[in-house]
Amino acid sequence: MAYDFDLYVIGAGSGGIRAARFAAGFGARVAIAESHYLGGTCVNVGCIPKKLLVYSAYFAEYFELASSFGWSLDEVNFNWATLITNKNREINRLHGIYRNLLTNSGVILHKGHARLMNPHQVELNGKLFTTKHILIATGSWPNIPRIPGCEYVINSNDVFFLKELPKRVLVVGGGYIAVEFAGIFHGLGAQTTLLYRGDLFLRGFDNSVCMHLREELTRRGLDLKFNVDVERINKQANGSLVTTLKDGRILEVDCVLYATGRRPMLDNLGLENTSIKLDQRGFVQVDNMYQTTETSISAIGDVIGRVQLTPVALAEGMAVARRLFRPKQYRPVNYAMIPTVIFSQPNISAVGQTEEEVKNSGHKVHIFESRFRPMNLTLTNCQEKTLMKLVVNADTDKVLGCHMVGPNAGEIIQGLAIALKSGATKQHFDETIGVHPTAAEEFVTMRTPMVA
Ligand code: FAD
Ligand code: NDP
Repeated sequence: MAYDFDLYVIGAGSGGIRAARFAAGFGARVAIAESHYLGGTCVNVGCIPKKLLVYSAYFAEYFELASSFGWSLDEVNFNWATLITNKNREINRLHGIYRNLLTNSGVILHKGHARLMNPHQVELNGKLFTTKHILIATGSWPNIPRIPGCEYVINSNDVFFLKELPKRVLVVGGGYIAVEFAGIFHGLGAQTTLLYRGDLFLRGFDNSVCMHLREELTRRGLDLKFNVDVERINKQANGSLVTTLKDGRILEVDCVLYATGRRPMLDNLGLENTSIKLDQRGFVQVDNMYQTTETSISAIGDVIGRVQLTPVALAEGMAVARRLFRPKQYRPVNYAMIPTVIFSQPNISAVGQTEEEVKNSGHKVHIFESRFRPMNLTLTNCQEKTLMKLVVNADTDKVLGCHMVGPNAGEIIQGLAIALKSGATKQHFDETIGVHPTAAEEFVTMRTPMVA
């Protein structure tokens, strides 16, 4: 049968665009549908605008330290509207780049919501398109529990379009988004509370890292509330939100941000017209080559719920394009040693296993830890500490995990990820000459294990 396309991609986000471009580069006839915005979450309401806001939030700290380095500043003011206008301009520029990348590689862009009609047919804006293969790359969406008053809360998407910076903010959640956005609001001057239902936020990260960040955020004046959840939210006539906690405490704020995880974006996708199955958590079930239970349909990225990070979606997109159109070049995505960063203030970064994971797997472990005051603070009164930690297999000497809390942790971890991916041992770290004077050199100068 002659199809309109060889591949129809649903969702022009990180994974979808990458798959479409690669497939077209391999000679396939490709269309991609996008209902909201080119570039998806990362470009519009995720990584990129978030990092721009993080950059802005850091200025408050820089201004505070400046006088110790001889600078005197007159009155300092912050204008939210300017930041958002400039951010929007940059995102528009990126839209243009993505549009060109797609059209220059021969991909047909369809604007609108795509719906599966059968395993080889997609409907968009009332038109039907037939296709040999379909790729679902529809991403994810904020998931907010249905508590009384949830209609008054905002999600991370909304933050990027707030008309003004709220004066008092409550952030609910203890994951990546909660920690990053609490840092943004606090840095920009809002009175900020971060509320998490468990003992300590950032479940899954190394415990020393979580405790260190707790100390650093508290030292900066962020109000952290753990072991508590929201009971209900009531809106006052003056617009403020009265939040009643489950332990009876009451918080009055101007804005409540829920950052409590993300669900797969499957709304009105037409899954019922196919034999696609979902996994126990509701994400699209795929095999190790991203094929769904419908053989002509693959799925990648956030919608399959493996690792919700842009570089992972990109890698999965390339893998599918190769499997379908260059099978000889197919390489499975290697999920080991994925470096990750939380762009909090200070940054957290990690690659490999935590101390707890290695111990639980029964291995003998050597822990190397260093806490120090970063050099850029030595002329100031700021008591911020950086934490660096290596988790080493005591029997094989292999470095199994690197963890850091401190300035530029996000920049430092990428190189360490290559080392760990290559199987570096602690001896390799010891034999590596440091770069002086940097914080990063501490990773190659830690000599004495803390825990034998
Ligand atoms: P998406 O990028 O979400 O793309 C899916 C696209 O599909 C969307 O554009 C959507 O509009 C479209 N779509 C959905 N349904 C349809 C339909 N039926 N028809 C047509 N189009 C449809 N990751 C990092 O690596 N680093 C970070 O710093 C980082 N920061 C983040 C910050 C925030 C606030 C958030 C929310 C996420 C962040 N992430 C970060 C995660 C990252 O953004 C995602 O993992 C990544 O965007 C997933 O890519 P994707 O292709 O699966 O989906
Ligand atoms: P996460 O899964 O990271 O965190 C969700 C948080 O919400 C957890 O602390 C969880 O608690 C809590 N939670 C879940 N359900 C409820 C509930 N019903 N009531 C109260 N609390 C609840 O999700 P995020 O939304 O923060 O981010 C989604 C994903 O996006 C991340 O996992 C990450 O992959 C990606 N991302 C990456 C970034 C980066 O690379 N820098 C930045 C932002 C997002 P508990 O731990 O107890 O379950």
